[in-house]
Amino acid sequence: MFKKVLIANRGEIALRILRACKELDIGTVAVHSTADEDAMHVRLADESVCIGPPAAKDSYLNIHEILAACEITGADAIHPGYGFLSENAKFAEILEEHKITFIGPSAEHIRIMGDKIEAKKTAKRLGIPVVPGSEGEVTDESDAKRIAKEIGYPVIIKAASGGGGRGMKVANSDDEIGNALHMARTEAAAAFGDDTVYIEKYLATPRHIEIQVLGDGKGGGVHLGERDCSLQRRHQKMWEEATSPILTDKQRSEIGEICASAIRGLKYSGAGTIEFLYENGEFYFIEMNTRLQVEHTITEMITRIDLVNEQLRIAAGEGLSMTQDEIPFLGHAIECRINAEHPRTFVPSPGTIDYYHPPGGLGVRLDSGIYQGYKIPPYYDSLIGKLIVHGRNRPECLMRLRRALDEFVVDGIETTIPLFQDLVTNPDIIAGNYDIHWLEKYLEAK
Ligand code: ADP
Repeated sequence: MFKKVLIANRGEIALRILRACKELDIGTVAVHSTADEDAMHVRLADESVCIGPPAAKDSYLNIHEILAACEITGADAIHPGYGFLSENAKFAEILEEHKITFIGPSAEHIRIMGDKIEAKKTAKRLGIPVVPGSEGEVTDESDAKRIAKEIGYPVIIKAASGGGGRGMKVANSDDEIGNALHMARTEAAAAFGDDTVYIEKYLATPRHIEIQVLGDGKGGGVHLGERDCSLQRRHQKMWEEATSPILTDKQRSEIGEICASAIRGLKYSGAGTIEFLYENGEFYFIEMNTRLQVEHTITEMITRIDLVNEQLRIAAGEGLSMTQDEIPFLGHAIECRINAEHPRTFVPSPGTIDYYHPPGGLGVRLDSGIYQGYKIPPYYDSLIGKLIVHGRNRPECLMRLRRALDEFVVDGIETTIPLFQDLVTNPDIIAGNYDIHWLEKYLEAK
C-alpha cells in the first residue's frame, strides 16, 4: 500500500479521500490555494502545501506546482478526486514519467473515453448498447440528412469533445438540420477548441441511469449496480438515487453484467461510471466517466463498499476486495447536492456560514467540509456538501430524508436545502415518476 497520498482536490471530495486514507493508515498531503487556507481538508491532513492563488488554473490545475508538492512531501501517489485533473490523460502520463502513481485508470483509457466518438465506438465493440446514430464525425449537411433519414427525426448533434451539456443541438426535420449542424460546430469550436460533431437519435423522455464499475486492470471487474440521476438542472445532477425507482433486479443484473464484462474486456483499472439514457425498457450508452463521481456515495450506502478504499487498493496493485457475488444491494439511498446557491434562481451565494447545524441519526450521512464560521470562497464550484440518506426501502428513505432536511440549518448563505424540502413531498417524486426533463419543467412552473 502507499505510504503517503497527495489529494489534488478540495472541498468535500478531498475530505472523503482523506478519510479513506486514514482508515488505511496512509499519510495524507492536502494541497490548497490561498483561498482555501481554512478549509477542513487542509486542517485534517497530515501535511499541507499551498500551491498557488485562488484561480483554479493557477492552483488546482497547476500540474507543475502539484508535482513540486509531491516531491517536497515524498508522496508516492496522487488521488485527483473529480473535476480538476481527474480526467486529464496528460496528467496521468506525467505522473507515470515521475514514478508517482495516479489513482485512476490508464492515460489511454482516459483518452479514449474523453473522445465521445471513440468512446461510443469502443462501447459498441464491447457489446454495450449505444444510441443509434452516425458511425463517426459528420461534417456536411447532406451526410447529416442521410443519417437523420436512417435513424428518424428528431436527432441531436453533439460535440465529440463535449462536456457539461454544451455544444448540443436538436433538429426536428430536414429544414432544421443544416442550421443545427452549423450551430453545434460553432459552439463546440468555441467551447472545446474542436468542432468535431456527431449525430444521434434524440430520445424524448429518457431517464439517466448509470452503472458503477470497478476494474482491477488485469481483466477482473465487477459492477455495483445503478444510480438514477434523472433529476437534473441544465444537465447538472441535483438528486440521485440507488437503486433506480423503476429498474427490476433482472434488468440491473443484465445491464450490470454487460458493463462488468466490458470493463474486463478493456482491462480497465479503477472506478468508472458507464452512463446511459433509458427509455421504453432500453439502455443507450452516452458516455463513460473515468473517475470517482460526486454521487458515488449512494452506491456505497447500498453496497456497504468503500469505493475510495477500492480505488486505493487497485492502484496499489492489490486488486478488488470482493467478487460480484459479494456485492449486495441493500435498501435504498438518496443523495441531495447542497449547493451554496439560491434555491430558485440558482445564483451562487458565497459568504460566511454564521450558524450551522448538520442533521444526524440513523441512516444519515453528510459529506461536507463546511463548519460554523467557515467562509465559502467565490472561486469554485458551488457544491458545499452532500446529504445522503439510507433506508430499508424507498418510502423509509424518503421519510428519513424529509426529517434530515428539516434538521439541517446553514445560516448566512443561501442553499438548495429548501428546494429538496419541496421535492421530497412532491407526488411525482414520491411515486418515482420523473425523467431528465422533470426538474426543469417543475422549476419553470414554480
Ligand atoms: P456531457 O458530457 O456534455 O454531459 P452527455 O452525452 O453525457 O454530455 O449528455 C448530457 C445530457 O444531454 C444527457 O444527460 C441528456 O440529458 C442529454 N442528451 C445527450 N444525448 C441525448 C440524446 N441522444 N437524446 C436525448 N438527450 C440527450
